[in-house]
Amino acid sequence: MSQTHRVLSEHVYNSAVALMEQRGVTVDSIAEIVVFLQEKYVPNLTKEKAVESVHSVLNKREVQNALLTGIQMDILAEKGQLLSPLQEMIDSDESLYGVDEVLSLAIVNLYGSIGFTNYGYVDKLKYGILERLNDKRYGVHTFLDDLVGAIAAAASSRIAHRHRAEEEKAVLATGQV
Ligand code: MG
Repeated sequence: MSQTHRVLSEHVYNSAVALMEQRGVTVDSIAEIVVFLQEKYVPNLTKEKAVESVHSVLNKREVQNALLTGIQMDILAEKGQLLSPLQEMIDSDESLYGVDEVLSLAIVNLYGSIGFTNYGYVDKLKYGILERLNDKRYGVHTFLDDLVGAIAAAASSRIAHRHRAEEEKAVLATGQV
């Protein structure tokens, strides 16, 4: 017996963003990673533009779904409510687990494969809020750290694509093609 539930998009968006913020991640803190990633390539990049880009990534339903799913796993692991051996693997951020990274791939590729490069880079450097999420003293963030890295990577790719489009437009305007 299946019952069809219509879940309102606005409810999904609001819940995902609220949950992310409850876990200590603000839109601003993700935008800081975006600026860090892109300032070398997009010289006039402002924090406001980065914030706008993060918002537009967060507006995608697949991103909201990934956040709701991943954060839920983190919370259950923190409370010790998962079955063994999943409980121990997520609680200790076991390196062979990897499902946290797989979940985030849906976000990474939203704006093309350049996101993949950004994602790998961000994961290595653990910049800004990611450093805190990787510190075990502040709770279990096995999924959230990858989700945040993926959102920053996708928002950066979006900016890179837009920047290229603007450059091309400028070249076309001068007639020097
Ligand atoms: Mg992880």
